[in-house]
Amino acid sequence: MSRWFIGIDLGGTFIKFGLLDRDFHPAGTMQLPVPSGGGPCGLVDQMAEGVGQLMAKHGLGRKDIAGVGIGSPGPINIEQGIIIDAPNIPGMKNFPLRDAVASKLDLPAVLENDANAAAYGEYIAGAGQGSRIMVMLTLGTGVGSGIIIDGRILHGAHGIGGELGHMIIVPDGEPCGCGQKGCLERYCSATYLALLATRRIQAGAASLLAEAVEHGQDIDARMVNDARKAGDVLAGEVWDAAARHLAIGCVNVCRIFDPDIIVLSGGLTRAGDALMLPLEAHFRRQHWKLTDIRTRLAIASLGADAGAIGAAGVAWRASRQD
Ligand SMILES: [Zn+2]
Repeated sequence: MSRWFIGIDLGGTFIKFGLLDRDFHPAGTMQLPVPSGGGPCGLVDQMAEGVGQLMAKHGLGRKDIAGVGIGSPGPINIEQGIIIDAPNIPGMKNFPLRDAVASKLDLPAVLENDANAAAYGEYIAGAGQGSRIMVMLTLGTGVGSGIIIDGRILHGAHGIGGELGHMIIVPDGEPCGCGQKGCLERYCSATYLALLATRRIQAGAASLLAEAVEHGQDIDARMVNDARKAGDVLAGEVWDAAARHLAIGCVNVCRIFDPDIIVLSGGLTRAGDALMLPLEAHFRRQHWKLTDIRTRLAIASLGADAGAIGAAGVAWRASRQD
């Protein structure tokens, strides 16, 4: 009986591959570059190449594999298994990636949004293991999210559910690329931390980062955190404001989903306690007082492997629904 599931995580530069057994034990990951040419066919060939290498490395044949899951950045149509567009790969408009991979490998395949796949990875094999309801927020250049309820990824009625980065947390606030104003991701993404610090320095605030800004150097979230650690008041305020806004987002998530755990991932979480301690403090302060706080906040544990492991988990889930 087939015991293994393979996950494929399509990124901007690399395709990651992960092997998972029926008991959700990740057995290994590897990566190949996204091919620079060849369009959709080149991409499918590269995916098949990676799957073949992973199987060979573990001494597995096609009959050992029960299914393949593919995590892809949006926009995608999950039900139809179609990539609606992929700006970095020419010719991918409305490409049926799921069926192309399935027929190339002669294996059942399923397509999932990459943020949802990463959340599923943490749910089955990472920080969310053992939870029933888990919400994941990925703090990068934007804020991605995935919501898992009783083992199922929440997709919404129109396939656009669980976009928590676009919860409005400040009425008439910062304009967001999505067309709304005051979205969560405008207040606690790495991009925004750097932008807010730059703006305040340009408006005359004193800071260790002032020289860099005056010389036209782009500052990033890590520089803000380093300045904060060195005692920079402005950097400390900007950092704390991001933690406070993220805490508002987490409280809202609690009121809607009452999750066991909110898992945080992405570049900003590399700050560790420097993020979690102010976040926990703001979370406690802003959380309602009607019940004790039972939702845990934790940093993701699978790192960059979450997407590939989760995509394999999505294939497992799909095999159970057949
Ligand atoms: Zn938005």
